[in-house]
Amino acid sequence: MHIDTEKLRSRLDRVIWNIEAARLKVNAHHIVHMVGVSKYTDVDHIAALYRLGQRAFGENQVQQLKVRSHALDALPIEWHMIGTLQKNKITALLDLRPALLHSLDGIALAEALHTRLESRDTALACLLQINAAGEASKSGVAPDAAVDVYQEIRERFPRIELKGVMTIGAHSEDHALVRKSFETTHAVYTQLQHDGAHICSMGMSGDYPLAIACGSNMVRIGSALFR
Ligand SMILES: *Cc1c(COP(=O)(O)O)cnc(C)c1O
Repeated sequence: MHIDTEKLRSRLDRVIWNIEAARLKVNAHHIVHMVGVSKYTDVDHIAALYRLGQRAFGENQVQQLKVRSHALDALPIEWHMIGTLQKNKITALLDLRPALLHSLDGIALAEALHTRLESRDTALACLLQINAAGEASKSGVAPDAAVDVYQEIRERFPRIELKGVMTIGAHSEDHALVRKSFETTHAVYTQLQHDGAHICSMGMSGDYPLAIACGSNMVRIGSALFR
């Protein structure tokens, strides 16, 4: 497949500059990580973006993550799993040793995950997904239950290394509603910082400057890079 490296470079530059502008408005010490979401593209484009300097990539399906991480085995890419995880895919996911699972969506998944982690004598870094806008189409824990669920997972499932929270912004044209979903998630994150939370993953191509303004320190960018 033909790769237009200049186009990819200019898209990456634009996203990086937007992130830079947004984070400086928060404060000069606010660092934001970017995960390139590669679900819309192919391995050649992932490799091309890697050569341009991008190191972290995310996929929303275990099968896709498997195929791509194997194909790009030679590159030290940091792979993230960002999509809903079905229980029957846990073993396949653990085989891939992802850097971070963004989508731990409740006690039931945590319990199933922990059982597999114990039998393998290993651990996994995870974020608790919060369904901040209360949308039926999205997974995640309700914001008012999130602090309790987070603490319960920490206590009961020590092989799950909780690093913070993740949300998908409200699916709405209404800026105020999207903002509210980020603020709600960030408020949960702030409470959990006492428990060691240090990652607040929110913001996608359509809303990452707003997410950063609301305190995000990890954005997941797909279409702005690859479409
Ligand atoms: C696809 C996806 C993204 C990236 O979406 P874009 O709008 O294309 O940037 C981020 N997070 C999750 C969970 C996704 O599934």
